[in-house]
Amino acid sequence: MSIRELTDLFHSHGPAVVLTGAGISTESGIPDFRSPGGVYSKVDPMEVLSVEALYERPALFWEFFANLKAPFLQARPNAGHQALARLEKAGHVRAVITQNIDSLHTRAGSDHVVEIHGHTRTVRCLQCPFTGRTEHALQQLREKPVPLCPDCGGHLRPDVVLFGDVPELYPIACRLAAEAGILLVVGSSLSVSPANMLIHEARHAAIINRDPTTMDHLAEVTVQGPAGETLRQLAEALQAGF
Ligand code: NAD
Repeated sequence: MSIRELTDLFHSHGPAVVLTGAGISTESGIPDFRSPGGVYSKVDPMEVLSVEALYERPALFWEFFANLKAPFLQARPNAGHQALARLEKAGHVRAVITQNIDSLHTRAGSDHVVEIHGHTRTVRCLQCPFTGRTEHALQQLREKPVPLCPDCGGHLRPDVVLFGDVPELYPIACRLAAEAGILLVVGSSLSVSPANMLIHEARHAAIINRDPTTMDHLAEVTVQGPAGETLRQLAEALQAGF
């Protein structure tokens, strides 16, 4: 389908709430989990990025996490993140709910961002009230397999929502999706629960994704294409009043 159908949907039912996934950040150089042949085709992230792995196989967990975070350091917001920030300022987007943990929406200038899977900026101790910067924890991996709390020596965990955790911001995301005129999903395979259930809350849904998703039938408009260019064109068309 075309940008024209997407802009028509915004004119009839906007503003939108946007749900983003890893696909919006691939153009910033951050691999997603499920693109065919991607770097994660040999490991199951759901197994390693889990509460169980954090407790049972902490060295493997931290090695995986350090590799996941490494490309975030060089990454910059791309045309897709920037277009969403512009659309928010122009009143066409009310909020961005993101499954991403790379902080790129905030860095692009989006003000209302709900990070339902947390973020990689900080870590916390599992045994005492310590919280600190993730970089400091990762620096410890040069000398030991697992970073430890500088206050009590306890085990640390990142402030991301792991498989097996309760996503505490999910009820807020649900309310936003239910109240929105449109839920626009960008760059998500819609295979991680409960984030993928948000589409059921929406009165009207649209999907921008490079590959088909198993939930395309729930969307009134689907655009199969790159997130950056598609969102840039959408923002331009809405700004021009088309
Ligand atoms: P996913 O990997 O399951 O799916 C990504 C989807 O994006 C795929 O369907 C792919 O076709 C599409 N895609 C890839 N590049 C695209 C592009 N340039 N334009 C449009 N579509 C594109 O991702 P998910 O649904 O977000 O679920 C994975 C989980 O992994 C999430 O919980 C997320 O937090 C986490 N994750 C986050 C990051 C990040 O923060 N950048 C990176 C990897 C994984």
